[in-house]
Amino acid sequence: MASRIAHRTCPLCEATCGLAITVEDDRVKVIRGDRDNPFSKGFICPKGSTLGRLRDDPDRLRRPLIKRNGVHEEVTWDEAFSAVAERLLPIVEAHGTQSVAAYVGNPNAHSFQNNLALRPLLKALGTRNIFSASTVDQMPRQVSCAYMFGGGLITPIPDIDRTDHLVILGANPFESNGSLATAPDWPGRLEAILDRGGQVVVVDPRRTKTAEAASEHVAIRPGTDAALLAAMAWVIFDEDLVDLGLLERHVAGLDAVAAAVLPFAPEAVAGWTGVDADTIRRLAREFAAAERACVYGRIGTHTVAFGTVASWAADVLNVITGNLDRPGGAMFTTPLAQPAKPPRRKSFTPGRWSSRVRELPEAFGELPVATMADEMLTPGEGQVRVLFTIAGNPVLTTPDAGRLDAALEGLEFMVSVDPYLNETTRHADVILPPPPVLEKSHFDLAFTQLSVRDYAMYSPAVFPMAEDSMSEFDILVKLTAIAMGMGPHADPSMLAEAALAQQVGSEVSDPASPIHGRDPGEILGALSEWSGPEKALDLMIRIGHRGDRFGEDPEGWTLSKLAEHAHGVDFGPLQPRIPDVLATASGLIELAPAAIIEDLPRLEASLQSNGNGMVLVGRRELRSNNSWLHNVEVLVKGTHRCTLEVHPDDAERLGLRDGEPAKVASKAGTVEIPVKITDAIRPGVVSIPYGWGHDASGSRLSVASERPGVNTNVLTDAEPIDPLSGNAVLNGIPVEVSTPA
Ligand code: SF4
Repeated sequence: MASRIAHRTCPLCEATCGLAITVEDDRVKVIRGDRDNPFSKGFICPKGSTLGRLRDDPDRLRRPLIKRNGVHEEVTWDEAFSAVAERLLPIVEAHGTQSVAAYVGNPNAHSFQNNLALRPLLKALGTRNIFSASTVDQMPRQVSCAYMFGGGLITPIPDIDRTDHLVILGANPFESNGSLATAPDWPGRLEAILDRGGQVVVVDPRRTKTAEAASEHVAIRPGTDAALLAAMAWVIFDEDLVDLGLLERHVAGLDAVAAAVLPFAPEAVAGWTGVDADTIRRLAREFAAAERACVYGRIGTHTVAFGTVASWAADVLNVITGNLDRPGGAMFTTPLAQPAKPPRRKSFTPGRWSSRVRELPEAFGELPVATMADEMLTPGEGQVRVLFTIAGNPVLTTPDAGRLDAALEGLEFMVSVDPYLNETTRHADVILPPPPVLEKSHFDLAFTQLSVRDYAMYSPAVFPMAEDSMSEFDILVKLTAIAMGMGPHADPSMLAEAALAQQVGSEVSDPASPIHGRDPGEILGALSEWSGPEKALDLMIRIGHRGDRFGEDPEGWTLSKLAEHAHGVDFGPLQPRIPDVLATASGLIELAPAAIIEDLPRLEASLQSNGNGMVLVGRRELRSNNSWLHNVEVLVKGTHRCTLEVHPDDAERLGLRDGEPAKVASKAGTVEIPVKITDAIRPGVVSIPYGWGHDASGSRLSVASERPGVNTNVLTDAEPIDPLSGNAVLNGIPVEVSTPA
């Protein structure tokens, strides 16, 4: 029996752990953490060891499907693409390009092939109805960073390996493995902070595993983090603790921020946040006094009505204590495939267009997914009649799921690029399945930009693609060709070559490019050792800040050189990058962006809320990954995890019993779910994990449907959003909890 070990990055979450995969013949025998990986050093979570099971899952789609008379049937790729061309183009001709929408799911961020192919597809569709998982996730962070630093991905990352004092809000990296801060083994890295005498403070309505391991847990009321952070800034200004350090010459708007936080004295926010004024003062003083400190907020702070203000306030604290851009604080990254040229400076201007029905502004070319169903259900010119979903399951992951489910049913045509017949894709007329992750090569374009160390790894595919399958890159390029009117038989490799030639052409004619003035034929010739999307990746690395600039720097990096390092390459800790990294029009850190300062009166008005009713929050689980992985037996076996966490005092008051069902009702819908009584949740708050609800007819998830759980997004309301980012409000949902009749 032929046996080998393949090394690969795990693509399932943002931690990017290195895996050592033992392969016998054509099957995975075992997956372990790669001890020789310089970043993850052998760390792995239970999900990472299941990549072989995902490949072997009998429910995974191997061939395209077409829905005929309500039933999905296997067809050839030719039939599938022909059906897309035949159905899409007449609708576009009759109703225009705005009758088409696209939803882009989170797994796209984990695939460099999709990163490269999606933009041309979305452009070819010619629609402004672009939606993604970003507006149920990190969009507030992108918006605040764009205002403050000049770009949605110019994002400071907590330097957790060197900090002495880390304040974590709304994040549970012991379960999620971290987000917008790529780091394998968060538990080990947080423990190391405590071991070196530092402090970890976790602010969360639940006493999560992360909170249990921390030095302090602050059980805040959901949705109020922005007020707590503003109050901490108030204390730092009031007690004259501001110290910009090396940032002194790079900050605009300090006085404006000092004035803007005046309404947020600790006593003013204590009632609403549920954090007493003395604690707020102490948190602020300890943060300001720490040698190296960082505030890090994530999904619980972002998926709320003040997500952008909370994201901004976290960075305000980092800036006014001199902790931005210094080791142990919040630092910017230097990803391998990032251009060597300086950033283009300009002001961030969202709202270049708005959604048709609710008139919600775009940000970074996207509309809020909270209004996607409105665009399908509301008649009139521009009504969405066609939807493309690419690696997404919005029926489980976006608000007011029941309404979206009904909206998908009413579409004229739907195409899904997805490996499963799930709660969303069951509505699709055509499903185009990509190969499993082990049959794809991998490079983290997105997460090297968010990594706590300067690290990169290229992994070739562990297995060749199965016969009769098509790469996801080629699927997306074929769809692009169809949208461009080139028909279903266009050759994707010819199109990719043409796009690459265009990209090389624009680089050599760009005076800021490191290959300005070079012969495009020479550049294209040098890229020819690779094929497909790897050519574009090689180009990005070679013109990146460590690149060989096509022979100009013989020591420089190329994709081939990176590929020689099977365990990845650690280029070291993050380095200070200000002012070079800043892309604001002023070239400064804009500490007081007008749009954010103008949103503070809305926050101030909320301080008067009595906050007496019950509210619902989500929760992460180590063995779950958003809406998927519930079809992998080893990840769902054991005690069922889709439960309603309730504090014992609330359970007693409401007559709820452990293990018995509770009825949870919101403005949007009602669910029944088993109760789990725990004092780890704040009184007045209940919690349901998200991504469950696998009981839809017509889906094909044999393991998941055995333990379907409930879809928490039946309860979330699509109406409230964070107005600056359009992000949905998924935490702090008012609910009524009772025993079922
Ligand atoms: S922590 Fe994330 S990247 Fe690491 S093994 Fe688990 S799922 Fe994969």
